[in-house]
Amino acid sequence: MSDSKEVEFVLKVMANKQNNKLLFLEAGTDFTDVLFSFLTLPLGTIVRVLNQHYGDEKAPPIIGSLTSLYNGVADLDSDNFLSEGCKAMLLSPRSSSEYERRQLKIDINGTFQPAKYFCCEDVNCVHYRHVNISMHYDAPVCRCGKSLKRELVIRDSSGNIDDDDGGGGGGGGGGGGGGGIFTIKRASFLMSGDMQVVPNVAGSVIKTLGNLGITDAEGAEPRNSTCRLNYEKEATRKSKKMVLNVMLQKSSNKLLFAQSEQDFIDFLFGLLVIPLGGVAFLLGGNTSLTKLDNLYRSVADINGDKYLINADTKNRLMNPKIPYGYMSKTPIFPLSEQTAPRLYYFSRQGPTMYMVSDDLTVTPFTMTSTLSMLNKLKIPYSDVKEVKVLVGLQEALSILKASLTSTCALTNGLNINPIVKKQPKKERS
Ligand SMILES: [Zn+2]
Repeated sequence: MSDSKEVEFVLKVMANKQNNKLLFLEAGTDFTDVLFSFLTLPLGTIVRVLNQHYGDEKAPPIIGSLTSLYNGVADLDSDNFLSEGCKAMLLSPRSSSEYERRQLKIDINGTFQPAKYFCCEDVNCVHYRHVNISMHYDAPVCRCGKSLKRELVIRDSSGNIDDDDGGGGGGGGGGGGGGGIFTIKRASFLMSGDMQVVPNVAGSVIKTLGNLGITDAEGAEPRNSTCRLNYEKEATRKSKKMVLNVMLQKSSNKLLFAQSEQDFIDFLFGLLVIPLGGVAFLLGGNTSLTKLDNLYRSVADINGDKYLINADTKNRLMNPKIPYGYMSKTPIFPLSEQTAPRLYYFSRQGPTMYMVSDDLTVTPFTMTSTLSMLNKLKIPYSDVKEVKVLVGLQEALSILKASLTSTCALTNGLNINPIVKKQPKKERS
């Protein structure tokens, strides 16, 4: 982190005497707020923070196919994007909860940028000000075709006016250090090692432990609360299908790579801007990342009127809004955007084709790159078949889910089953 100020949390830890295993810990508002704030972190930010944290010394942990998706965007020439700023906004996605996160005792997104907004460089533009706004310099273009380069002074949710200069990024550090950003001040929470969080109800230790799934000294057991997908039906009806040309090896049915147009690439790049809470929302609390699911369900189960700072907080954590200008023209996921009109941002217009590998690395599609890839894999052209796959909401959700844990996000997300070569059975006599 740029700001090397020491941060301390007071935590009471309860461990099993025999094996020293953590049973639960007791924490105040400040620590719980930090934990809850993880739900507001965009996927791209998580990859970026890990890449930065490990630097060049040690390979950062790989998050499913997201690391290769992110690194692929970083490697793409900026002429694949509308502007240099568009690439930057994918590599450093903003969050709609930045104002809150800035007041946390610690924000893992260490390189905090002061909130800035840009509008059309042309003061006479009819779209000036409230129509087209971007959080990134020169990121999307204005509807008139000019760049969004003029900085605006905008009130954030606190009602404060942001100045031109945030003063070196440490802004607001002292503000809410005592907590009370997502949870109410002076509240106390118990949390298990697998990220289940419950309010610490006075006088009811056994009940609280029961809520955490701790029934004996062994530790926590997962609770079975469910989050229903109520958007699903409507969204499925509305969603359009994207066409993906998937190249399979005939003999093994193994996915070699996919070829796609703009829409699928916009969808893939858009994964980087979805906050963790949005991911859990889309997947109905079943991301297959147990700790994330536990944290998400904990927020779902908390009595918001009693323990959260206001009525909107639960929604902001469980279905965080995508910031201004981050949604594509035709979003496939039913996520909501902060109120402001849509902008056109990711990739260039035009009939460009892209190649997508199983781990979601995106490269511009050229015949020579395809052939050299097949040569490298030592696959004869006669052993390649092309299959058209339609990607709608369900398939997009599967790819999202697979991208969290698997480096074969397309194979797993599209449910392509490689043919397992049958071994000839040995006759036994
Ligand atoms: Zn304009």
